[in-house]
Amino acid sequence: MGEIDMKNDDSPFGPCPLGRAAGVLGDRWTMLIMRNAMLGTTRFDEFKSRLGIADNILSNRLSRLVDAGLLTKVPYLDVNRTRERYALTGAGAGLRPVLQSLAEWGHTYVNPDEPSGAVTVIHHTCGETTTDGRYCAACQRPVPYDETAWMMPWLSETPQPLAEVHGTP
Ligand SMILES: [Zn+2]
Repeated sequence: MGEIDMKNDDSPFGPCPLGRAAGVLGDRWTMLIMRNAMLGTTRFDEFKSRLGIADNILSNRLSRLVDAGLLTKVPYLDVNRTRERYALTGAGAGLRPVLQSLAEWGHTYVNPDEPSGAVTVIHHTCGETTTDGRYCAACQRPVPYDETAWMMPWLSETPQPLAEVHGTP
């Protein structure tokens, strides 16, 4: 009694959807890459300079995120050669509430003695703060992804609208 019977499964992450999500997202670089992708970073060099991450690790994590369908490679013309940038997919944009909840948890529980700002979720269309990161009380409706902005005062004095989704949101 009281013990959870953890059944073995062929997949190392098991049949539990939380386990599967952890299998895709379970390291710090991956979460931070997705945070930056949601804030509009798309190019390899931009991820590299903004995250201070080594080339080989960044390259590995970006490939994994492309394989997992959270990012997609989109060609662009850089001066006179074609390069690829990394755009958010619908599955990537689907992490919005996950990252918002993680930010709230981090603000509340991780190093609470150190001053850290909260991420405020703004309904970009009207400029009001959402009640729970999803609902605008002023407009009396849920806030869709493409009308969301994140206010991170340590990053910018203005709310940052979330990046465009490549494909179906
Ligand atoms: Zn609103």
